[in-house]
Amino acid sequence: MPISLPSTATDPLLVEFESGELIFEAGELGDKAYIIESGQIDVFVKTGNQPLSLRSLGAGEVLGEMAVIDAAPRSASARACVPTRCLVISSQQIAERIDETDAVVRLLITTLLDRMRSLTYSSVVTCAGLKRAIADETTIVSSQYWESRSDCSDADDVDNEDVIAKMRLESELRAALKSNHLIPYYQALVDLQTEKIVGFELLVRWQSPSRGYVSPGLFISMAEETSLIIPVGCWALSAAVQAIQSFQAEVDCPLFITVNISAKQFLAPDFIEQLVQLVPVPCIKCIKLEVTESVLMAGGNASQTLQICRDMGFCISLDDFGTGFSSLSYLSELEVDSVKIDQSFIRKLLENKRTFMLTKTMINLTHDLGMQSIAEGIETATQRDTLKRLGCHIGQGYLFSPPVAFAEALALLKQAP
Ligand code: C2E
Ligand code: CA
Ligand code: CA
Repeated sequence: MPISLPSTATDPLLVEFESGELIFEAGELGDKAYIIESGQIDVFVKTGNQPLSLRSLGAGEVLGEMAVIDAAPRSASARACVPTRCLVISSQQIAERIDETDAVVRLLITTLLDRMRSLTYSSVVTCAGLKRAIADETTIVSSQYWESRSDCSDADDVDNEDVIAKMRLESELRAALKSNHLIPYYQALVDLQTEKIVGFELLVRWQSPSRGYVSPGLFISMAEETSLIIPVGCWALSAAVQAIQSFQAEVDCPLFITVNISAKQFLAPDFIEQLVQLVPVPCIKCIKLEVTESVLMAGGNASQTLQICRDMGFCISLDDFGTGFSSLSYLSELEVDSVKIDQSFIRKLLENKRTFMLTKTMINLTHDLGMQSIAEGIETATQRDTLKRLGCHIGQGYLFSPPVAFAEALALLKQAP
């Protein structure tokens, strides 16, 4: 499926270095960092013709991050001591995080790097006719730095492991997007009065060759922290268009597909362009864009974008309703077509009288404002019957079907009453 990805996504995810192979050289511009998967790497500077080892790095450690952070030339060289495998971290991955960091922290990072470079081995790279004395000083300062790093507490180690795990997940998701390891799953949306399937929500699944099944609960939040959620969202829109066309070729009934649009994607300046590019006009009426209230509350161009989407013919559904911290006032200003009551309310619908009253009120409010009500997370027949009695329009949940692959979704449609 054609999706536009950042150019770095074409870089290999894993690289292998032979024993003795030079990984990078001092003075080069660094466009990537590495997480060492296995093997050993020597970081060194040249003193005359002699390499002066600064540090030996092994599995789980990060290499080459400095030049990527501050875009300055590499201040040391690195060579594999044994056959070594590394996971590549692109400069874009790091740049995005730095760009989103608080401006003061950003300044502190660059200042710190600047000082480290001038204190340690950068002089070694740039000065010709180097004296042993400088090298010795370099070694002392460098080793002080590395010693101070190795003095870090266990808590820091755990934090670092988390960060490295996240970067690894991100690199793998970039590769998954490219190699079609994302799979669209479809969860039925059922008219509670007629019990007919009226649509599906598209929910992404990642079948990773190395990790197996990865839950969206794990990778969507990571993708949302970076701009990766945008290609994931574009992929989901393309998948929905393909699915609508395939469903329509097989069954003759009106059907829509709901696509989750994260705030970052919705608020991107080229979101409308993406919609125009990915969704052919005849499919627009069959695609519902599902956003959370964080989108509506974002201010800026959000309400304008929402209106353009509706003018184009897209329906908008408000996801996870009732869970945010916003006031209801945004509903008086921004029009949406349907409201999806969060599953946390449905779960406690029959156990907690106050939850029941709140759910009933949300359904009535939705209808009074001329919108459609959807309840998600319906797991029992009693929940379904109660919601039907309250007049809720559409239901979604394991009682009807879990999210399933296209073939199973089609079978559900064909066997429907
Ligand atoms: P969501 O949009 O609130 O999706 C509903 C989640 O509830 C889905 O989890 C679905 O499998 C689960 N669910 C549905 N019925 C039941 C039920 O009866 N009981 C229980 N316990 N759970 C039920 P899933 O598939 O793990 O997705 C989690 C979240 O990941 C989604 O929450 C959505 O926010 C995000 N997500 C999934 N696909 C996409 C995507 O393509 N783009 C974006 N931006 N986000 C996505
Ligand atoms: Ca959703
Ligand atoms: Ca939801």
